[in-house]
Parts: sequence; C-alpha cells; structure tokens
Amino acid sequence: MSAPQMRWAHRVMAKIIASCGNVCNACGSDESLTIDLIVPDGGKHHGRGVIGRACYYLKEWRRGNLQCLCDSCNTRKGDTPNDEFFADLTQKRNISSSNTSIKPGGQCEQQRNSLAPGQQGGGVL
Ligand SMILES: [Zn+2]
Repeated sequence: MSAPQMRWAHRVMAKIIASCGNVCNACGSDESLTIDLIVPDGGKHHGRGVIGRACYYLKEWRRGNLQCLCDSCNTRKGDTPNDEFFADLTQKRNISSSNTSIKPGGQCEQQRNSLAPGQQGGGVL
C-alpha cells in the first residue's frame, strides 16, 4: 500500500468525521471519534485494510449511512440497530434524537465532491 493511498484514506476518514461536526452523535464528545454505520453491516467492512475501509465508508457516506460516534458509544452500540440504540439513549438521558442521522446533501454534498477516489490516484475501488 502506497503512502499517498494511506494519506488519501486518512483524509477521507477525517473529512467524514468533520462533516459530522467533529462530535459524537450520541453523547457530544469530541474525543476518540470513530465512523459508525447507521445501518450495521454485521462487521463485513472489518478486515479490509485502510484503503478498502475508506472506499467502503465513502460509498456508505453517499448513501447517508454514516455517523460519528466516540469510541465508547460505538462500542456500546455494537450491532444494535440505530433506532434502538438512540431510543435507548433517549430513554436513559432524555435527549432529543431528532438529529441522529446525516442528512444527504448540504455540507456533505460539497465535501464529497473533493473526495472522489478517481481524482486521488484512482484504481483503489
Ligand atoms: Zn459518545
């Protein structure tokens, strides 16, 4: 795996996290942020390597299927369906769950244009 590809992958991850406002979608923490699939895929994306995961995340991001969770919320969520996870959170903490998904478009629309893999060395999809 080449260094430019690694940098591209890290940039993709950073941009996706930035597009979520750099905070955990569940608790609002800005530490140890991870990318979480709103509709879980059962861990299929694990073990693909950094580039494979970045491409996968980009694809899911375009579908509006990503959100940011901090490490501990992500671990807590596991493969729980998103609705259940946030319903549970709302019950426990009485917080609003009205803003729990990435809306397609808006700032994501602008940012994803600069993330097209074809312009970043290509051939990695
Ligand atoms: Zn959190």
